[in-house]
Amino acid sequence: MMRTVYVNGEYLPEDEAKISIFDRGFLMADAVYEVTSVLDGKLIDFDGHAVRLERSLRELDMTAPCTKDELLEIHRKLVEENGIVEGLVYLQVTRGSDGDRDFVFPDPDTKPGIVLFTQNKPGLANSPASQKGAKVISIDDIRWGRRDIKTVQLLYPSMGKMMAKKAGADDAWMVEDGYVTEGTSNNAYFIKNGTIVTRPLSNDILHGITRKAVLRLAEEAQMQIEERLFTIDEAKEADEAFTTSASAFVMPVVEIDGVQLGDGTPGPIAKRLREIYLDESRKTAI
Ligand code: PLP
Repeated sequence: MMRTVYVNGEYLPEDEAKISIFDRGFLMADAVYEVTSVLDGKLIDFDGHAVRLERSLRELDMTAPCTKDELLEIHRKLVEENGIVEGLVYLQVTRGSDGDRDFVFPDPDTKPGIVLFTQNKPGLANSPASQKGAKVISIDDIRWGRRDIKTVQLLYPSMGKMMAKKAGADDAWMVEDGYVTEGTSNNAYFIKNGTIVTRPLSNDILHGITRKAVLRLAEEAQMQIEERLFTIDEAKEADEAFTTSASAFVMPVVEIDGVQLGDGTPGPIAKRLREIYLDESRKTAI
């Protein structure tokens, strides 16, 4: 089915939506993005994504294309028009185009570019992948130093997924200076003796919206949490592991670099966290 998408102020059929070849998002990856999940036709943690978008824009001196309320309205209209019950809304804001290619930022009055589209994912909350658990490999983290800003520079994460695929795995965890940073498109955790371990927030990782919610819910459920650096070897010796992201919620990890965790099926704490997160998200969705 042809989707309705949003581009620079207009709702259009996807094959009529166009952006300039001079748009800096296209030429320079000078753009930021958000992905918000949809369950029961409602947006999960819209506020968290809107606040992080504002931060990404501010860190890069980019102009916001519209207000938070307008963004919410666009998200809702696309979800409704496209009949999304379970799925995702992708949003991208670029520094726009001043009609040429130049390393220097264009005039600050240049209108930012904005694109949104939906992705229909029936069964997202009950995906077979989450019931099986993911196999991950470790790869070097060679990304830039501002991973806290959600930019569209996704070539290396995309290559990481391909490396994983080639190795017969589902995803890759990245390692820098001996410590795991995060997954290609998710935050990474392991569990040992009931304690959930994950890397603390810094410029080295994306400040996941799902991470924040899951850690809060884990704390409320009296689970032990340690935010500290950890090595891939520690994770391989874990009882369980998992990742979090807006597009896969809590995803159990059952194998790291060919080493099986526990009995090779999703662990009880990861499964419980997924349930709690989905329940809570459905209740607070807007
Ligand atoms: N880390 C990286 C590198 C990501 O790309 C993502 C999501 O795209 C995440 C973590 C998880 O963030 P969120 O929970 O906000 O989706």
